[in-house]
Amino acid sequence: MCIFCKIVKGEIPNQTILEDEDFLAFNDINPSRKIHVLIIPKEHYDSFDVIPPKIMANMTEFIHKVASKLDIRKSGYRLITNIGNDGGQEVAHLHFHLLGGEEVGRLVR
Ligand code: 5GP
Ligand code: ZN
Repeated sequence: MCIFCKIVKGEIPNQTILEDEDFLAFNDINPSRKIHVLIIPKEHYDSFDVIPPKIMANMTEFIHKVASKLDIRKSGYRLITNIGNDGGQEVAHLHFHLLGGEEVGRLVR
């Protein structure tokens, strides 16, 4: 079982920001910004590349709720998902990195 599935099962502790029946948001163990939250579906999908679009629609709504709870919708934030080897993905369970709480800087040049 993958590490994020273990987090979903409660076998590995996490600092939960928000949770519902289908999704979980928790602090990254090694934060790269003041706010660094990981948002995952509870069901295992290897990456964004294989998530059914209808589930992604629900996940979008959940991500909005996380950003609201963190009160960063006005100040802004960055949402990243790494996909596969070339995308630099380390944990093969779909997750979005939500970064904010400060200016996170330019990413794409
Ligand atoms: P990736 O490189 O796959 O996009 O990102 C994986 C992220 O998962 C990294 O930012 C890493 O710090 C985080 N991470 C890895 N293991 C754990 C863990 O056990 N708990 C938490 N909260 N984050 C983890
Ligand atoms: Zn998993």
